[in-house]
Amino acid sequence: MTARAEPIVSGIRPAFALHHRSLVIDLHTDALYEHVRGRKDITQRSDVLQVDIPRLKQGGVNAQVFAIWTNPDLFKPGKRATFVLKAIDAFKRICRRCPEDIALALGPGDIRTIRASGRIAGILGVEGGHALEGDLANLDRFYRRGVRVLTLTWNNSNPFARSCMSRDGPRRGLTRLGHEAVKRMNRLGIVIDLSHASDRAFSDVLDTSTAPVICSHSACRALRRFPRNLTDEQLKALGQARGVIGIVFLPYFLTRAYRKATIEHVLNHIEHSADIAGINAVAIGSDFDGFGDSPPKGLEDVTRMPAFTEGLLRRGFSEPDIKKILGENFLRVWKEVTRKAGNPSRLPD
Ligand SMILES: [Zn+2]
Repeated sequence: MTARAEPIVSGIRPAFALHHRSLVIDLHTDALYEHVRGRKDITQRSDVLQVDIPRLKQGGVNAQVFAIWTNPDLFKPGKRATFVLKAIDAFKRICRRCPEDIALALGPGDIRTIRASGRIAGILGVEGGHALEGDLANLDRFYRRGVRVLTLTWNNSNPFARSCMSRDGPRRGLTRLGHEAVKRMNRLGIVIDLSHASDRAFSDVLDTSTAPVICSHSACRALRRFPRNLTDEQLKALGQARGVIGIVFLPYFLTRAYRKATIEHVLNHIEHSADIAGINAVAIGSDFDGFGDSPPKGLEDVTRMPAFTEGLLRRGFSEPDIKKILGENFLRVWKEVTRKAGNPSRLPD
């Protein structure tokens, strides 16, 4: 259990100050995907979905993992890796267009440097191992272009691992090629993301990986029974393996009464994961822009992030613990992954 004192300070003003002096990292958004498919231009403030660069700044988010999802129904085999490269190029064009607002982070050391210059650090992720087209050389290719996080599966299974949404999902895990992929990601220094992975794949990867892993956008199955959420056993194992869970804001994952989901449901999952996995294993993975126009009340878009910090204070989390949840925990994982890979200075093309 995590002992939490009665809150000493609460209210939006001290929370706002704490939020803006903390390192805030969100582990998952689909904003780049929406940008590339032309639904919006994330360099401009708009009210389309929940994330763009001006709103990230207003919400005090210092680093954002931009997931590159290749819709397997839209992109057939042979077209997927190409789309990833196209999205990476689009992100780099965004950085060139807005050099004072955003920069690509290639290693954990970049986070503080980019933040100190008043910019947002963008971390590139690929969501769904199907984008590798069954070819491990694509891991190297993506890494060289700047990808640092890979979500092993999406809702579809792939040549590496079984998804939690496959009919026989929970019972089957990593394939032999998947074991090789894990080893290769360990060597390269790619953070392995197990959101969407089957229960068996989750434990197979924990047994195989020499570095800590993340579940970038999931919640707790004890509070909401759903395969995308982690069981208490998984939360414990993740904590013991020094990994983190980014608690998702997606209403359907938070409560059965998802149409009535609020920020309090998100905080319930934060508290539960802290109690079971330990305070060092909790982070934020909003999935903003990934679930349409139905965010939980109180977290309508990324500008509302300070309300999340206010909620943590209100629930009695200490300032050091809040800082861990907001960003320090993920930064620690990324440092460990990079250190274990032993190639922190490797630069992309
Ligand atoms: Zn996802």
